[in-house]
Amino acid sequence: YEALEAFDPDIAGVLLSELGRLRGGLQLIASENFSSPAVLTALGSTLSNKYAEGYPGRRYYGGCSEVDKAETLAIERCKALFDADHANVQAHSGASANQAVYGAFLTPGETILAMSLPHGGHLTHGTKMSFSGKWFDAVHYGVDKDTEDIDYDEVERLAKEHRPKVILAGGSAIPRLIDFARFRAICDEVGAIFWVDAAHFIGLVAGKAIPSPVPFADVVSFTTHKVLRGPRSGAIVCREEHASAIDRAVFPMMQGGPQMHTIAAKAVNFKECATTGYQAYAAQVIANANVLATALGEYGIRPTTGGTDTHLSLHDLQSVLVTGVEAEARCDAAGITLNKNAIPFDPQKPNIASGIRVGTPCVTTQGMGADEMRTIARLIATAATKGDADPDHPVSKEVRAEVTDLVARFPAYPR
Ligand code: PLP
Repeated sequence: YEALEAFDPDIAGVLLSELGRLRGGLQLIASENFSSPAVLTALGSTLSNKYAEGYPGRRYYGGCSEVDKAETLAIERCKALFDADHANVQAHSGASANQAVYGAFLTPGETILAMSLPHGGHLTHGTKMSFSGKWFDAVHYGVDKDTEDIDYDEVERLAKEHRPKVILAGGSAIPRLIDFARFRAICDEVGAIFWVDAAHFIGLVAGKAIPSPVPFADVVSFTTHKVLRGPRSGAIVCREEHASAIDRAVFPMMQGGPQMHTIAAKAVNFKECATTGYQAYAAQVIANANVLATALGEYGIRPTTGGTDTHLSLHDLQSVLVTGVEAEARCDAAGITLNKNAIPFDPQKPNIASGIRVGTPCVTTQGMGADEMRTIARLIATAATKGDADPDHPVSKEVRAEVTDLVARFPAYPR
């Protein structure tokens, strides 16, 4: 840090002020977490310098003896963690991992069946703005109007009607467990590949807190920076029969040189995730999410599906007459970072939205528990319903003072 500060005080200042921001507020974005100092050390290492196109033992560059060790450790630890036949740890991100899955199994124009974005899917699941919707024929299923959970009958009906090459389960705003056995049965019925994008919940699987998709799916892609708590990146595990298709799709089809520093950081993270401490963390993430969802509901901020089985809950603000964009701005002014989110069948446009999404990975890493979740629910409800986007508004100040006290008791990156 000293070398950076001496040469580039502007960027050094940003690093410090971002650390201050993380420490000074409540981080409730469901897809974020605080990686350990060990992971960050690997990320900021000289392994960033090395070109290593190819795979361990089969590189297109010399000098790969040391990075080969890092990638082999990452692969072996990833396979062991998820009890998977094969792991590819080179994807640069969740979107790049998904691109590789498309590359491995589909050619442009072929059909995929996936969860719709407004019902909780992801951009890369066939939306028109993304390569996935531009290059592939995407058919989308959604949630049931009453349960607000995945409409499995609709998945089956659409699968039989459209005969997709690939059926995709997973998304960015799904609070409930996914019935992987049901998806597998539907895939078998229509002869489709079963792909799970487990980006959001893979950390809970790693921590043995929820069932794994690995025994059911042909291929599972994921990010490594959400509940999992690793570096910002991606990975793919798959059945042995798909191993070479996946490896060829990651490199050379979609990517060039792998980021060896990030791969080393993934290896560190996979080792962390195999500990009992991480398993306790994953269970606590869910317990906290449950308390937070229920408590917000008691303030009239209804959790969709009635609650959560995972690290996140999605809340409908319509009965408190606040939009998602207003709630996000008011919470932000009060030191609470969360995001507006469309709820299923949302009457608002996505950039306004009727909901918010909250997640507990960060606050659980800080060591908070049920009591703090009840406090956080009260603070969100106060900021969202009585507060203002102006940080100088009295309610913003009052909530922010309580947030400051709370995070001082549970510091992120304790000194
Ligand atoms: N898939 C899902 C389900 C996600 O939630 C995300 C990111 O939020 C991604 C893929 C993309 O990951 P990345 O932002 O690393 O490209």
